[in-house]
Amino acid sequence: MGARLTVWDGAGVIGGNKVLLEADGRAIFFDFGTAFATMDRYFDEFLQGRVNRGLLDLVELDILPPLDGIYRPDLAPSDGSVAERMRRKPDHRVLEVHAVLASHAHVDHNGAISSLREDIPIHCSPMTAFISKAMQDCGTAYPGDIAYVRPKREDHGLLATDLKATARQRPHVLTATEWTEEAGAFWSRRDGKQRLASVPPRLDASDVAGLRYRAFGVDHSVLGSTAFAIETSVGWIAYTGDLRLHGKYGEITRRFAEALSELRPRVLVTEGTHLGEESALRAQGSLGSEQGVRDRALEVVRAASGFVAADFQPRHVERLLTFRDVARETGRKLAVLVKDAYLLEAMHAIDPAVPTVDADDALVLYVRGKLAATAWERSVLHRLHARRVEAHELRTHPEGYIAALSFYELGELIEIDPPAGGIWIHSTSEAYDEEGRVNWRRLKDWLAHFGVRLVGDFERARAGDPDHLGLHASGHVSGPELAELVDLIRPALVVPVHTEHPEWFRRFEGRREIALPQRGRPIELDA
Ligand SMILES: [Zn+2]
Repeated sequence: MGARLTVWDGAGVIGGNKVLLEADGRAIFFDFGTAFATMDRYFDEFLQGRVNRGLLDLVELDILPPLDGIYRPDLAPSDGSVAERMRRKPDHRVLEVHAVLASHAHVDHNGAISSLREDIPIHCSPMTAFISKAMQDCGTAYPGDIAYVRPKREDHGLLATDLKATARQRPHVLTATEWTEEAGAFWSRRDGKQRLASVPPRLDASDVAGLRYRAFGVDHSVLGSTAFAIETSVGWIAYTGDLRLHGKYGEITRRFAEALSELRPRVLVTEGTHLGEESALRAQGSLGSEQGVRDRALEVVRAASGFVAADFQPRHVERLLTFRDVARETGRKLAVLVKDAYLLEAMHAIDPAVPTVDADDALVLYVRGKLAATAWERSVLHRLHARRVEAHELRTHPEGYIAALSFYELGELIEIDPPAGGIWIHSTSEAYDEEGRVNWRRLKDWLAHFGVRLVGDFERARAGDPDHLGLHASGHVSGPELAELVDLIRPALVVPVHTEHPEWFRRFEGRREIALPQRGRPIELDA
């Protein structure tokens, strides 16, 4: 009996990973992420998918695969349109999925789980599960029901969340050995009116749908990132998720590669985000370590006397703690948003080394200009009442804080009205798409308007301006590092995903087989 792999998204594009393994009568997905690249082809700020038609727009536009039987029935309007559109697709199939292995809590890897049937078990690290739940708790429509399902009801062909119906937690299998009271309290927590029927996770992560598997911690820009390998009758099939080798914790990724090589894997499905970009990344100093970012940020903040903002990726808690350290060493406090404070509480429930705002004297809660509207925000504000600072405090004592803000919070500059001499530290990756480039220009316009100086400008770093160098460390492996990993793991077959440069992998030809995936085309694995 053979097996097959089908890359449903992530073939020749970055993100949206949905890699289907069918072996020994089982169907298992490695990740089920939101396909941003496909969405960008059709949607715009003012032309969005119509959520009140459930899955219809996503299926019609190939943002979700035409796999009948894997989706939530309550996301299909009763007019039968979703099933009918799926049947029109040449690669339409009826499929029963037995599990999803979720590598990490980035939306391009876990976002589309919200569309899946609620009885499909999600296997992941406890950190990934808790960050995912925090993301859903703090979101409204976005990223959707990745941790628990809020049932929809239909009215005249339009779907809306039924707030009277109890939300139901997705079944989880966690790579954890213990389950604390604090973890249980967060897992079952639901602020607001809708009740949550919480399901305790299974902690025995030895088999997935009856197949033996291994989960390996890897280093990436979000804690809890995991690579997986499943044992099938055609050999071990491994999947990297996203990972990096450079920096302080690169050793974790190296240990994964060594342990995986001992399994003599048949297939390695690997990311390749940064291929072809090494020289640019090196020139802007983005292939360094988190420690390097910390040293550079410390220099920059030491030289600043007034308002400082730190702009980094959401849920990048390692970077948040870097700026917490910088704040402490410069006599400032890191002012974080309510959603970050909530995320820290979630992560602390799994890893006590992650601080919460109330227990760390270098952290305070920044209360935005608008009044808190939702139940979870009110509960955080209540718990952290003594740790609150508001915009006027940042204006009158700018030297006392680093404000953790990002592009989407630029409106806070109106409330803060920073005095002259402020800086904005851009500590995140460079724009990689059109919208990102437009937002980059907008960011500059906002900062110019308020007389805030931008630090960490990649264009200026590449032009040789040392002031802008090294304020970000990338979460992905570079080409030479990936070559090293593949040679260490020695799989028979390599399948590149999450890359715009799959042809880069041709360099392994002669030593190993390479299969460049195409969306929805199965790669057959002989027995
Ligand atoms: Zn990622």
